[in-house]
Amino acid sequence: MRFSKYYVKTLKETPKEAEVISHILMMRAGMIKKLASGIYSYLPLGYKALRKVEKIVREEMDRAGSQEIFMPVLQPAELWKESGRWNVMGPEMVRLKDRHQRDFVLGPTHEEVITDIIRNDISSYKSLPISLYQIQTKVRDERRPRFGLMRCREFLMEDGYSFHANTQCLDKEFENIKAGYSRIFERCGLTFRIVEADSGAIGGSGSQEFHVLAESGEDEIIFCESCNYAANVETAKSEVSNAEPMELKKPFMMHTPNVAKIDDVVNFLKIPANRTVKAMMYKDMVTDEVYMVLIRGDFEVNETKLKNVINTLDVTMLNDEELNNLDLIKGFIGPYGTDLKSKNIKVIVDPSVVSIPNHTAGGNQLDMHYIDVNYGVDYTADIVADIRNVKKGETCSKCGGTLSSARGIECGHIFKLGTKYSEALKATYLDENGISQTMVMGCYGVGVSRTLASSVEQNNDANGIIWPSAIAPFVVDVIPATIKDATQMEVAEEIYNALNAANIDVMIDDRDERTGFKFKDADLIGFPFKVVSGKRANEGIVELKIRRTGETLEVNKVDIVSTIKELMKKY
Ligand code: ATP
Ligand code: MG
Repeated sequence: MRFSKYYVKTLKETPKEAEVISHILMMRAGMIKKLASGIYSYLPLGYKALRKVEKIVREEMDRAGSQEIFMPVLQPAELWKESGRWNVMGPEMVRLKDRHQRDFVLGPTHEEVITDIIRNDISSYKSLPISLYQIQTKVRDERRPRFGLMRCREFLMEDGYSFHANTQCLDKEFENIKAGYSRIFERCGLTFRIVEADSGAIGGSGSQEFHVLAESGEDEIIFCESCNYAANVETAKSEVSNAEPMELKKPFMMHTPNVAKIDDVVNFLKIPANRTVKAMMYKDMVTDEVYMVLIRGDFEVNETKLKNVINTLDVTMLNDEELNNLDLIKGFIGPYGTDLKSKNIKVIVDPSVVSIPNHTAGGNQLDMHYIDVNYGVDYTADIVADIRNVKKGETCSKCGGTLSSARGIECGHIFKLGTKYSEALKATYLDENGISQTMVMGCYGVGVSRTLASSVEQNNDANGIIWPSAIAPFVVDVIPATIKDATQMEVAEEIYNALNAANIDVMIDDRDERTGFKFKDADLIGFPFKVVSGKRANEGIVELKIRRTGETLEVNKVDIVSTIKELMKKY
């Protein structure tokens, strides 16, 4: 490709709305263009890189034995009603009507469609297992589209689905796809971590996420410094040491003026925070049911865990008006000394609370606290469940080691779905004995466009992108130092042709611009290698610059192809 003919408009300035480096650099390098919030066009450079990630994904899915299909974006609502997700998906799912006023959705994911295909086609154990995948546009009306390609309303996903006669078979495929996904991220040159994950609205019996490690990651992952335990903070667990046991006392009320926060309670009463319990008031956004959530004073509530415990899609904390209506006083709410039942408030207690003898809790009156309250004696719970947010520095419950934390970008997610969809949609088969059984399912997804952006998050410097060769739109930029110099131009053309013939993606910068200007563009766009045909071109010697290391090698033009082929293995 000739730079002078190529459609690429690089920008000097940082686009205003871009917050993360991948967004900034992909916009500046002229790879993507915004159409609307969370909706992007890919220009030639961006699309070429995207297609390379896609190719790696396709090759590895094929290698894993999965077969490629292509399903529609437009899906009839009936299937979503049948699976029960029509009501569950909320505003993230884009719904529309056709000309006959029939309900449709723009597919955010394809469990329903694939299960519908399989239930109609497969009826015998002899046709199982089967593993299928597609690479296709997904539509999700995200609450907060942001960070360029990271969180879009329209994005490219590889989604795979497998169907099995039993869970052992699913477990095997889960490991097979996990290995395939690992190869995808390795080949894309990414540093990543596989972690235990929350299954969210998709349901099922277990899931793991692939996180590309980057400061800008929206997720926090917790991992053990000593063993292989790693989990998204949404599900991470840790070991909590119990408070010292002591003889249980009777609660009494104490005047605690202006002491509404845990820190104030600790200072005022001169007790450690691990002897206090705080009460948080939450509302189930689906049912409007109200919950008092009790947790040790120095811990935080994890809303994802809370949602799972309540079995709802969304929760929110009560506002001042809602608290007033329930006669609850912010900062002084507690489980003792108020009739929660008559107010229809359910109580959820984190296990960290159960074992604190004689703890402090809100007094349910302004400026009052109760001292020496005991769970199980003075109050009970409707649910005791882990709703605690794990923090780094805590103790690993698997090995006793210390937990660390890092930021991650979720680029892949694999699920053991079990029979959730096959049961709802009646995907059954006849086993060896002719008995009807429900199929067992798995599903797997890689965010192809998000993975591309994640690579930029991990590979950049002050001058621009540093693509790994595997997904670089162009691997080499051939730059004649002076295009008016016939020899320099001739050698550049020769190298350009040789690289093209060797099937290496190469650009020649034939623009009538200064070399420094061309270097700036080359570094911004992120070519892994620049070949400069300059002063020694008449001797057949050119400069080869490695973008990642900044090194410059002098190479004979006849050795360029082999040298670059070798370097591509490393960079
Ligand atoms: P998130 O928690 O980030 O919203 P998710 O759990 O909804 O992700 P899945 O339904 O598991 O995502 O989708 C599979 C993959 O698709 C994700 O691992 C991610 O790489 C990608 N993905 C999901 N949502 C988006 C989005 N809005 N924009 C770009 N990629 C996305
Ligand atoms: Mg999501």
